[in-house]
Amino acid sequence: MAQQRILIWHRNDLRLHDRKTLNKALQTEALIFPVYCFDPRQFGTTAFGFPKTGKYRARFLLESVEDLRNSLQKLDSNLIVRRGLPEEVIPTLARSLDIDTVYYQQEVTDEELKVERVLKQALESINVKVEEFWESTLYLPKDLPFEISEIPELYTNFRKQVEKHSTIERSLPVPEKLPQLPEVELGEIPTLADLGVETPEFDNRAVLKFKGGETEAIARLEHYFWEADCLKEYKETRNGMLGANYSSKFSPWLANGSISPRYIYDRVREYESERVKNNSTYWLIFELIWRDFFRFICAKHGNKIFRVSGLQGIDIPWKEDWDRFDLWREGKTGYPLVDANMKEIAATGFMSNRGRQNVASFLTKNLGINWQMGAEWFESLLIDYDVCSNWGNWNYTAGVGNDARGFRYFNIPKQTKDYDPQGEYIKHWLPELATLPGDKIREPYKLSSEEQKRYGVRLGVDYPRPVVDFFKSVKANEKIYSSAVSKN
Ligand SMILES: Cc1cc2nc3c(=O)[nH]c(=O)nc-3n(C[C@H](O)[C@H](O)[C@H](O)COP(=O)(O)OP(=O)(O)OC[C@H]3O[C@@H](n4cnc5c(N)ncnc54)[C@H](O)[C@@H]3O)c2cc1C
Repeated sequence: MAQQRILIWHRNDLRLHDRKTLNKALQTEALIFPVYCFDPRQFGTTAFGFPKTGKYRARFLLESVEDLRNSLQKLDSNLIVRRGLPEEVIPTLARSLDIDTVYYQQEVTDEELKVERVLKQALESINVKVEEFWESTLYLPKDLPFEISEIPELYTNFRKQVEKHSTIERSLPVPEKLPQLPEVELGEIPTLADLGVETPEFDNRAVLKFKGGETEAIARLEHYFWEADCLKEYKETRNGMLGANYSSKFSPWLANGSISPRYIYDRVREYESERVKNNSTYWLIFELIWRDFFRFICAKHGNKIFRVSGLQGIDIPWKEDWDRFDLWREGKTGYPLVDANMKEIAATGFMSNRGRQNVASFLTKNLGINWQMGAEWFESLLIDYDVCSNWGNWNYTAGVGNDARGFRYFNIPKQTKDYDPQGEYIKHWLPELATLPGDKIREPYKLSSEEQKRYGVRLGVDYPRPVVDFFKSVKANEKIYSSAVSKN
């Protein structure tokens, strides 16, 4: 029988470790053609007009693709790179390379599924087979104790059942060698300019100098777990906002598949047997299960996650107030915790989980602004944008997700007191407030004229007055929310 020719279309799976596709292709002793295709739609604009892939993630993606190419070259293979619509590019390649089967990692959300549908039809029409693989989660669908259509709506129920009834597969090693890639035009990795994206400047206030690719992902894990030995206290530090090591920072690499969650899981187990096993080592897995949960919920509910009424279908009359939205995204709301976080994401493409929860709550529960605008702003800027985690979390914070707790808001001044008691994080991003002591920085709008003089912070001049009264705005939005829920 002639040697099989398999094309592996890389998407959000930019790695060589823990790849079922590669493993299966190797087992069949096929010739393997790894491909990455830059889809111009990913570099267009979102519904509200923001760059769909902003500069931070675009650069991270280019670095990730380059790293994948280098790693493939080390194994005697290479990465074929193209620009264009994958549903056109892949069939064209399949025909010219005489491919028998195309392998790819399945996605779960609308844009990606549409591409898959059209691609499958195109490949079928030229008699090329397709095999889809599910590789992105800790628990694989086949190991779940329920069908995807029966996934529990609440995280805790999901987690408890998978923890009780499911096992996590061991991750696969990087292959030692790959079949040599036959003569083929490789194609150049585009530059940011080719993609119409400006080059981001590195801001040295950033938590980390994120660099894309599997090599960097593994290096980050080595550092965080083994060199800095941070995993043992993750549960206590994970709500931080300042510095590289309060949390793992694995999210950008997980989002584009440069690191596998099952690989992380294996390394946690190794750490537990060699160093220590405690609540913190468990908690990292707990968070990875959140990631799984949102992916499976998206697979279950299709487009609902993107609708303004969210997973619960609540029709809240959200505002599309661009003036206030601009104050939020530019970090000029007059609430330092919100403003500092919004400056951070704009300058670096990253924000802590604590920050994300607070700014999302402020946009929706204080300003009453359409949460989709916030979700798209995050989509544009986040280096770790993951469609399921982003839209799932926004559903949740906007109160339209599967959260049984109804109208829940974050008390921003209290959050500041709890998570930034001395205002160190705020001062890092808002140097104009550097002279304020910890107890004054939470609510600068309460400074008397005498205090404004003493600290050299003039409200409305050096730092904005608050865009809304905190509790009045919460009350007003709660009323709107409750009325919408009662009509549901
Ligand atoms: C409004 C909002 C939007 C968000 N958008 C994204 C997004 O686009 N991409 C993204 O990866 N995360 C998103 N998150 C979740 C979370 O904030 C980030 O995963 C986390 O801050 C990344 O930092 P880390 O890797 O250091 O996390 P760690 O605390 O070290 O957690 C380890 C991993 O667990 C997963 N995880 C942790 N918390 C969550 C969570 N709440 N939901 C889903 N997975 C989680 C991530 O993969 C993370 O890398 C969002 C949260 C909110 C509130």
